[in-house]
Amino acid sequence: MQYKDRPLCTECKTKPKAYAYKRYGRVYWRSRCDTCIRKRAGKRVGGVTALQRSGYKKHRKCELCGFKAQDKAQLDVLFVDGDMRNTVSTNLKTVCANCQRLGSTRRLGWRVGHLVADD
Ligand SMILES: [Zn+2]
Ligand SMILES: [Zn+2]
Repeated sequence: MQYKDRPLCTECKTKPKAYAYKRYGRVYWRSRCDTCIRKRAGKRVGGVTALQRSGYKKHRKCELCGFKAQDKAQLDVLFVDGDMRNTVSTNLKTVCANCQRLGSTRRLGWRVGHLVADD
């Protein structure tokens, strides 16, 4: 859905407002964008995530393809079961940006039961 007169988020003023609902041909927007709404709700985006609380340290290389990162920013943490609050060590895998991308389009074929803890 594209609306050319989509208003900007009142909070960050950079992203378009989130779609709320449509009624009698009129589109209603929420006052903030998705990111700001999520921040408000205390989910992901900044702040302390369940992952950070868990103290998980990324590996130096991708656990899927073996890609060796020069910078940690090239690696992401994958939640095997897709639940970002599930931070047990068997649910966390260090993957490179490439594999992360793949994982979101087709599930990596990892099953929780197949995983062995690292330590
Ligand atoms: Zn915003
Ligand atoms: Zn990889």
